[in-house]
Amino acid sequence: MPDSTHYCRVALPVPLRQTFDYLPPQPGVALYPGDRVRVPFGPRELVGIVVSVHHDGHMDTRAKPVLERLDPRASLPAHLLALCQWLADYYLHPLGEVLATATPPYLRQEQLPPQPWHWQLSTEGKGLSHEALKRSPRQQEVLRYLLDHAHCSTEQARALNLSPSAFKALEEKGLVERADTTDAPEFSTLLNAPMLTLNEEQAQAVERVAFHRYACHLLHGITGSGKTEVYLHLAERVLRMGKQVLVLIPEIGLSPQTVQRFRQRFAAPLVELHSDISDAQRAQNWLDARDGRARIIIGTRLAALAPAPELGLILVDEEHDTAYKQQDSVRYSARDLSIYRANALNVPIVLGSATPSLETLRHALEGRYAHLVLKTRAGGATAPRIRSVDLRNQPLEAGLCPEAMQALQHCLSRKEQALVFLNRRGYAPVQMCHACGWVSTCPSCSASMTLHSKPPRLHCHHCDRRSRIATNCPQCGHHDLQAKGLGTEQLEQRLSQKFEGITTLRIDRDSTRSKQALTEALNAVHSGEPALLVGTQMLAKGHHFANLTLVIVVDADQGFHNPDFRALEKMGQLLMQVAGRAGRGEQPGEVLLQTHRPDHPLLNVLLEKGYTRFARHLLEERQYAGLPPQWHCALFRAESKRAENAEALLRFARERIEARFPPSSHYALLGPLPATMERVQDRFRYQLFVRSDQRKALRPLLQHALEEIEASALAKRVRWSLDVDPVEV
Ligand code: ADP
Ligand code: ZN
Ligand code: ZN
Repeated sequence: MPDSTHYCRVALPVPLRQTFDYLPPQPGVALYPGDRVRVPFGPRELVGIVVSVHHDGHMDTRAKPVLERLDPRASLPAHLLALCQWLADYYLHPLGEVLATATPPYLRQEQLPPQPWHWQLSTEGKGLSHEALKRSPRQQEVLRYLLDHAHCSTEQARALNLSPSAFKALEEKGLVERADTTDAPEFSTLLNAPMLTLNEEQAQAVERVAFHRYACHLLHGITGSGKTEVYLHLAERVLRMGKQVLVLIPEIGLSPQTVQRFRQRFAAPLVELHSDISDAQRAQNWLDARDGRARIIIGTRLAALAPAPELGLILVDEEHDTAYKQQDSVRYSARDLSIYRANALNVPIVLGSATPSLETLRHALEGRYAHLVLKTRAGGATAPRIRSVDLRNQPLEAGLCPEAMQALQHCLSRKEQALVFLNRRGYAPVQMCHACGWVSTCPSCSASMTLHSKPPRLHCHHCDRRSRIATNCPQCGHHDLQAKGLGTEQLEQRLSQKFEGITTLRIDRDSTRSKQALTEALNAVHSGEPALLVGTQMLAKGHHFANLTLVIVVDADQGFHNPDFRALEKMGQLLMQVAGRAGRGEQPGEVLLQTHRPDHPLLNVLLEKGYTRFARHLLEERQYAGLPPQWHCALFRAESKRAENAEALLRFARERIEARFPPSSHYALLGPLPATMERVQDRFRYQLFVRSDQRKALRPLLQHALEEIEASALAKRVRWSLDVDPVEV
């Protein structure tokens, strides 16, 4: 261990591709990589992270001393620092900003959160039996939990719905006490609930995972095949080895069940990491993960950057979900980062999906990933029957053709639940004047304003502009304004009129602004009472509704009109995921896809041959077109109030690339071109698409373009970014 640091390099949360040299706070004081330090930076003070310390060599002669070392020991463990360095390098993003992304907001300020504590029984409390405190059931519940588990954090108490006032009352009676949580709490039993016995396929999948070395696995199981149960079994083994498990889920609001199932199954300390918890709690959970107190870490993409000194397994649920890709600042993929991490740590990783991304599926088909397949539904359910329904020339009622309407009637009369899926929220996508053809476009965006009825307004979903609904046409003054097209609000209204007396539940981003509303709606579905659900893709993911037997997709053609090269892949995934909600319980499920293109060859491959065959077709097309996953790509984006500036910056980048790299069949440039949504919030958006069949060849090219852009005067007037492996173009 060094006892004298000559100088150190510090990464600061500034958009500059460099680190800064600083001297120790006092001569002779040692600093270590990973330390948080407060430093002077121009006229400001910033908190940064020491990335390296040097005992000799050339220091920046202007280096100033660090003002303060903030923590008694390194905040960022070495493994996390290394992970961030890789991330900065791979995504060509400034390290200081990467480190800021990896540190919870609370830790970017100065003080550390208070020392963690938990509830435990006092000596007197330990003397009580399970039958004590009969008169106050809430207190008895707490007592029983503590008798069985010894510890209870406030987080666990909340998750288990144990009453905070019961804890306080017991504290006043001297039966429970608060204790500092310093070391990993002992958990006498690992399990809260028994493990289910795996079926043959599940057991084989579990057996194929070896725990002492890196391997990437695709757990490819149809919806309802019991993937979560496989995760739980894998996690159990790793926990028994005394290691930590990291579980990634795409979005917290949409996959609360995965978290619940881990909590219900394991008594081992579990922390959540996502943006839906308070900053202080998140910092606490992060520290619990870092110090090994937490054995299970479960969260959204930001959890991929959680420190975990004893990590033994990474699970990525619904790996195809594009929510794993951050779309601003550091544009990293939590899935890809996790694969790198598992490899670096030499531990296994399992990517699970019913509809894997083409990236992952290709590796599995070509043998680089272990392909673990679950073909049948677990727990006795059968896979749903899916078919398309020809919409052409059919009379429509509430967007449904007679065949779909009849299926809906039958389902509801059997006292089962049905889901009518439409991926378009609002009342109607546009308002139109029947007299002159005026349409409700957003003044700031190249998009129309959606008509909403509850509350009545026009709303741009791209820039969030809201305006009153005009009763007369703003262009010609006529009053014949009409709602054009169908959104979930209107669908809900019309279907609830038609099916009076049946509970109609709409689940989309508008109806579930509050977490409570979503929970209530989901509870109503879980009650199993007959119900008609109207929903967007919020309902497509992960949910397990036992009494839902019919799914109707109102518009299966939505993906055909999208220019993004991933649109068909996403459409196939979404259709299969929505279909997968049907028939997960005892009754078989039926799925109807309404389409104007019943002869579309790809749709037919999907319905008749299944997702893997569909994906193979897409893979062939991508190969032929020179697109991912066979080719590697990156996107320079630029936006400006003046379209010519955004375009000019990217043209400049293109010219600089072409001046340095001779034309070759190994790389191709496309653009600058206007983005699909050309204008958002009064800014014009352009993009330059760069692709290559060799990842290695792409890098120097991007690096060169970055240096040129950063040195150009235009870059200061244009908002721009680089997206490596973009998921949306
Ligand atoms: P997936 O994650 O693949 O969609 P789940 O893990 O949610 O599937 O499993 C679907 C249903 O089957 C759940 O209700 C689950 O409890 C049940 N299940 C899964 N595995 C088993 C098993 N081995 N035995 C009995 N039921 C099972
Ligand atoms: Zn008009
Ligand atoms: Zn707008």
